[in-house]
Amino acid sequence: MEDIYLQAQRPKYDCLLFDLDDTLYPLSTGLAAECRKNIGDYMIEKLGIDPTKIDALCNLLYKNYGTTMAGLRAIGYDFNYDEYHAFVHGRLPYENLKPDPVLRSLLMSLPYRKIIFTNADKIHSVKVLSRLGLEDCFEGIICFETLNPVHKNTVSDDEDDVAFIGSPMNSSPAATSNSESGIFDIIAHFSKPNPGSELPKTPIVCKPSDHAMERALEIANLSPQRTLFFEDSVRNTQAGKRVGLHTVLVGTSQRVKGADYALESIHNLREAIPQLWEASEKKSEVSSISGKVAVETSVTA
Ligand SMILES: [Mg+2]
Repeated sequence: MEDIYLQAQRPKYDCLLFDLDDTLYPLSTGLAAECRKNIGDYMIEKLGIDPTKIDALCNLLYKNYGTTMAGLRAIGYDFNYDEYHAFVHGRLPYENLKPDPVLRSLLMSLPYRKIIFTNADKIHSVKVLSRLGLEDCFEGIICFETLNPVHKNTVSDDEDDVAFIGSPMNSSPAATSNSESGIFDIIAHFSKPNPGSELPKTPIVCKPSDHAMERALEIANLSPQRTLFFEDSVRNTQAGKRVGLHTVLVGTSQRVKGADYALESIHNLREAIPQLWEASEKKSEVSSISGKVAVETSVTA
């Protein structure tokens, strides 16, 4: 009989940090495609953007700001964040997400802290986890609202200000940004032969910005060198690497720069990274003194 205690060094990781969409379920569910379509519809219907510009605009905003939403705010559109999320996520085919007992038992057998880190909003995140039957597998969710909390208006104590959730501008909700004036023309900007690097800044904190990555580590009290980060997005994976995380690219077996591992599917976890279970050979008495974790606790939808 092997003396397992001899090889039971300190486990390599304390925490597994998971992106949600297209990481814990596959692209084939169709949610991502629907979501992109809804974002385009929102831009046309609610922001009055020319339908012929949607594709180019979405690409540029996503590329330069991490999410289309963050980009829309940067170039001058103002809108209510909750309304935006309800519009783009509200009509997603959630019924395509089925309980995933295989993933569930994989997660349950891993003796580490497990946290979700997503750019999506809380309602969507909870709904997805609940559909997958994973709602109790995670210690918490770092989501849009975690990184973009509503700040009390410091200028005035007026109670009414608190009602303008996620909308610090003084716009009335109905008349948001229909005029083209005041909107930075990012398409024209990038069609110049030599576009300057100065782009308007976004107030939204989201992956893959270093700030978002660092905030997440801080909020969950994680040491990046002791955390394994799962992501389907190459640039988010690389952002993780920049802040010192160990990284797993999910959705392809093609490893890229910045990814320590690549998995076609999260279901391949045990085959691809068996070391994750080696630590559990020894008595897995995970300390529950997890510091003050200010992450959203997952609640049942
Ligand atoms: Mg994702």
